[in-house]
Amino acid sequence: MPIHTVDTYDGNSSFGTRLIHAQTGITEPYGAVNVPVYQVSTFDQRALAGDGLFDYSRSGNPTRKALENTIAQLEGGCAGFAFASGMAAISSVFCLLNQGDKVLISRDIYGGTYRVLTRLFPRFGIEPQFVDMTDLEAVTASITLETRMIFIETPSNPLMKITDIAAVSAIARQYGILTVVDNTFMTPYLQKPLALGADIVVHSATKYIGGHSDVVGGLVVVAEEDLAEEIYFVQNSFGAILGPQDSWLLLRGLKTLKIRLDQHQATALELARWLSEQPQIERVYYPGLADHPDHELAARQASGFGGIVSFEFHTEEEAESFLERTKIPALAVSLGAVESILTHPIRMSHASIPEEVRRAIGITGRLVRLSVGLEEAADLQADFAQALSVSTSPA
Ligand SMILES: *Cc1c(COP(=O)(O)O)cnc(C)c1O
Repeated sequence: MPIHTVDTYDGNSSFGTRLIHAQTGITEPYGAVNVPVYQVSTFDQRALAGDGLFDYSRSGNPTRKALENTIAQLEGGCAGFAFASGMAAISSVFCLLNQGDKVLISRDIYGGTYRVLTRLFPRFGIEPQFVDMTDLEAVTASITLETRMIFIETPSNPLMKITDIAAVSAIARQYGILTVVDNTFMTPYLQKPLALGADIVVHSATKYIGGHSDVVGGLVVVAEEDLAEEIYFVQNSFGAILGPQDSWLLLRGLKTLKIRLDQHQATALELARWLSEQPQIERVYYPGLADHPDHELAARQASGFGGIVSFEFHTEEEAESFLERTKIPALAVSLGAVESILTHPIRMSHASIPEEVRRAIGITGRLVRLSVGLEEAADLQADFAQALSVSTSPA
């Protein structure tokens, strides 16, 4: 039987088509329309008739490789790498640094990233430098000779602040500093950091890329060949790789990324507008709302506003009552899945950030984060309405 490569992708297709027909680079002898799960640890080198790509699955596995090639194409990078979790991906990127190097980062960041940079990497002499990443003058002023990397998360979590990726990358390039963007909230469908000048993109693929709350994984995509070699060295040496089964789940999740996000963000905008009109809600944080302070920047650097909406109650009691009384969303950490997820950041996703830091950046007990799922908008709105009506004490 002739061997053929699964390469129905054509570089000019639109994003939704590329999701379905990505060039995985994996040779498939039977014409299977999906890359199989290569549940294998080692590869017989005598039987090797092909290209010698694989010898041991820490170093490379065909299912993982298919995922890595796919995400590289979608992000417009030269190589992709799959890791056991988003934190494994992020930590592996920090492993590019040497003792004495510093990472410029915002405090308004995913709790796990904050924890690894403030408590684990300092053991090896790699330290964070904190800055408000939305303030470009402050970014420039914070750079020192030791600054080797700028790490951006935009929109920020959970306050949905927007960092100008192109502007920060341009500053970084002037000083020969690497720019890394955590693109978990936007995905390559809505935001392409490499095209805006960043060097490295990271993902918690646990979120929108998997999309179904059934897999934990992380991805890295790099813009240039020399970075690809360095990340591959870390991936193979440190070994925090994604297994074949989970790689396959992410390949499957990616196929529906566009239609899921289209629906997530349509419902998110509808709910964000509705929530802004409710007297029980003091403030709604969603970049798609015209009154969001960074609305224009968000519209310029991304092709959509995503599916995460944060909102603040007048009191902590009202927030807690709302969280207890809603029926449809899960009350959980994580986001980006088919089911809506409500999070109380102060006690859940951001519990690992010290209280005084949380207070300084505005994460209070009154704040709730909603990852809008694929339920019908009207059902979510009705559920929120009943939860709000009982959570408000009569004036
Ligand atoms: C969840 C998340 C991470 C960490 O990913 P894991 O897969 O949980 O390790 C990193 N960044 C952001 C923005 C996240 O939401």
